[in-house]
Amino acid sequence: MDTDLTGSCQCGAVAFTVATAPLLTYACFCHSCQKRTGSAFSMGLIIPTEALQLSGDLTAWSRTSDDGNSNTRYSCSDCGNIIYGVGESSPGLAKLQAGLLEDTRNVEPEVYIWATSKQSWVTLPAHAQPFDTQPDDAMEMLAAAQTYREAR
Ligand SMILES: [Zn+2]
Ligand SMILES: [Zn+2]
Repeated sequence: MDTDLTGSCQCGAVAFTVATAPLLTYACFCHSCQKRTGSAFSMGLIIPTEALQLSGDLTAWSRTSDDGNSNTRYSCSDCGNIIYGVGESSPGLAKLQAGLLEDTRNVEPEVYIWATSKQSWVTLPAHAQPFDTQPDDAMEMLAAAQTYREAR
């Protein structure tokens, strides 16, 4: 994927650039992601929080995720689009919503989490090694992404 990714919310009030290549791309099938997207799964990029440069007004909202950690989400104050989230367990890493990128054609999940609540019709790539829930340690996600890239 290219460096210097750019994106925006639906209404355009919030725009961002990411000054570095994402650490990994993931798909999450947890119920919270299904609720907030109204869909089967969410897709996000994990990036260093400091690499995210934003303009526009954001609203913060915190919830407890399925694994018991507090997560704070930042949404556009106008249209409500979720832009990114930061978990208390790894404050240096932000989860950026992949669908907000200007160019989403090359976005491919490398790590698949909360496969226990995945719908049966969703078929993962043969070389994917999904997690039933999600690893506590972000390094496990990185290792899984590396394995996925090598098998691709
Ligand atoms: Zn907006
Ligand atoms: Zn999720």
